[in-house]
Amino acid sequence: MSREAYQVPSLGAQNTFGADGIAGAAAEGPVASYVCGECSSKVSLKRGDQIRCKDCGHRVLYKERTKRMVQFEAR
Ligand SMILES: [Zn+2]
Repeated sequence: MSREAYQVPSLGAQNTFGADGIAGAAAEGPVASYVCGECSSKVSLKRGDQIRCKDCGHRVLYKERTKRMVQFEAR
C-alpha cells in the first residue's frame, strides 16, 4: 500500500534472520543447565558432555528448568 512495504525485502530479511539465529546457536552450542543432586552446584553441559557434576563428580543432575531428574549410569 505505501512505501513501507518496499523497505522490507520479505524473503531476504526472513532468511537472514533465521539463518543468523541458527548459526548463532550452533556456534556456541546448545547448553543445558543442571543442578547437581549432591552438592547443588550449577552444572552447564554442552552437547556431548558427560552428565556429571564438575564439582563433586556426582552423576545425578537435575535439569534446572524442568526440575526433572536426569540420571546417567557411567560405564
Ligand atoms: Zn556436585
